Amino acid sequence: MIETLDIEITQTKESRLPQIDFANIPFGRVFSDHMLVAHYSGGKWSKTSILPYGNIPLSPASSMIHYGQSIFEGLKAFRTDGGETLIFRPWANWERMNQSAERMCMPQVPKEMFVEGMRQLVGLDRGWVPSNPDSALYIRPFLFATDAALGVRPSEEYIFMIITSPVGPYYNNPLHLKIETEYTRAAMGGVGSAKAAGNYGAAMYPAKMAQQQGIDQLIWTDAKEHKFLEEAGTMNMMCVIGDTLITPPLTSTILPGVTRDSFLTLAKDEGFKVEERRISTAEMIEAIEQGELKELFGVGTAATTAQVAKLTFEGNTYELPPIEGRVISNSIGEKLLRIKKGQEEDLHGWNTRF
Ligand SMILES: *Cc1c(COP(=O)(O)O)cnc(C)c1O
Repeated sequence: MIETLDIEITQTKESRLPQIDFANIPFGRVFSDHMLVAHYSGGKWSKTSILPYGNIPLSPASSMIHYGQSIFEGLKAFRTDGGETLIFRPWANWERMNQSAERMCMPQVPKEMFVEGMRQLVGLDRGWVPSNPDSALYIRPFLFATDAALGVRPSEEYIFMIITSPVGPYYNNPLHLKIETEYTRAAMGGVGSAKAAGNYGAAMYPAKMAQQQGIDQLIWTDAKEHKFLEEAGTMNMMCVIGDTLITPPLTSTILPGVTRDSFLTLAKDEGFKVEERRISTAEMIEAIEQGELKELFGVGTAATTAQVAKLTFEGNTYELPPIEGRVISNSIGEKLLRIKKGQEEDLHGWNTRF
């Protein structure tokens, strides 16, 4: 049962929808007609509004700009063959946003504002949910600090917003990743498990260095020894060694991906062997050299199932097994996508339907 939420809606005078070529949309650059906005001050949330998408006024002293109290979420809505709209696991993203908020000393976002607000926003812009097979409406909820004060302390005022963007695939081709052993994304006790804005800015320089060598992205390793695989910064990493699906356990340095959780759940349902445990770089390279590494891939909302074709470690580049033969990632990845699109029974109650 979803609680009703009183939302003030101001509709756009002219939809931009007729100008959009859904067959050619770059990831995250085209935004739907409306956005949701709520203000927090004096210890409480204001009435939630849905407005035409547009710029927002901000003080140049806003503490988010200076000290980085800014967190976000990412999820997707899909169009079913019958024309319904499904949003995948919004409750999981709501919980995770509040965990990020707690870590960053920001206020909790009420469930009805997040989930019901999102349903109303996506409902109003339902024409923006793409129907082509590998597309979806990407939903970006975010929360940031707006106190106009330069003292370093938690802000007393915040804005919560949701914007949405029709998207195609994030990666178009199998990836070439590098295991990063010099730079660090997250250290124990830090904010790696929060979807905090600063994590992404900090990861750009090492990624850029690798991209200059033709590498797509990095697999981060632990900050202390650079010996154990962590995640890829926009997606969690999984591999199949022998017949076992393995992924690093959740710690304070790994973002608890909703896709990761969904993937592990479905793999267990299907009876595959699943282990959440540390994987060392030495184990990974040995498994590749002995032909025991069968699959390596990333999982995330934007990336979906992103296959890794090549892996670079300490100057050596390894060709990984052909993508077509990757039984676990291909079958679970497809099953997950079918559930998201309402083409397969949603046994875990993951979809909100309207
Ligand atoms: C968002 C994100 C992921 C993937 O999480 P999903 O909930 O599956 O989209 C993985 N790693 C990082 C650092 C992320 O920000």
